[in-house]
Amino acid sequence: MRIAVCPGSFDPVTCGHLDIFERASQMFDVLIVAVFHNPNKKPMFTMEERVEMLRAATYHIPNVRVDAFSGLLHEYVRQQNSNIIVRGLRALTDFEYEFQRALLVKKIAPGMETIFMMTSSEYSFVSSSGIKELAKFGGTIAGLVPTCVEEKIMQRLRDI
Ligand code: ADP
Repeated sequence: MRIAVCPGSFDPVTCGHLDIFERASQMFDVLIVAVFHNPNKKPMFTMEERVEMLRAATYHIPNVRVDAFSGLLHEYVRQQNSNIIVRGLRALTDFEYEFQRALLVKKIAPGMETIFMMTSSEYSFVSSSGIKELAKFGGTIAGLVPTCVEEKIMQRLRDI
């Protein structure tokens, strides 16, 4: 059974992420989408909220499983009986960061492979942080995030 893990902050999940899940899930028997705690980012949504939104957004993809973890990525991936990490790539700026991370993982966990999927052009400019900023200033985010996420963001901004 080919199992791959797609880790990320997903704060919140966007149509760009979803596009990667849809394409990657066709290449593996199981794709585990794992929300991880990134200490460098101050999230808008809790881990539980992010998991909930991911579950709703990936409901139509039968071989996607959503999970959450904090700790070392390669240890988590091994626990899932996998050695494949899937990440999405947008611009050159993503490359620098992803390249370093992939090499670091490879150094501490030989045998672990990070594979990259190029963004679809219509989502190349979509990022979770961009979406939150756009929504904060009243811009329209329809079509850039799943509908359930759109509602959650608007609700969160009203609560602030
Ligand atoms: P992280 O905090 O780990 O960077 P993100 O939730 O921001 O997590 O992103 C998770 C993964 O999805 C990363 O590999 C990122 O490059 C990728 N990604 C984000 N937005 C897009 C997009 N629009 N198209 C393709 N990949 C994307």
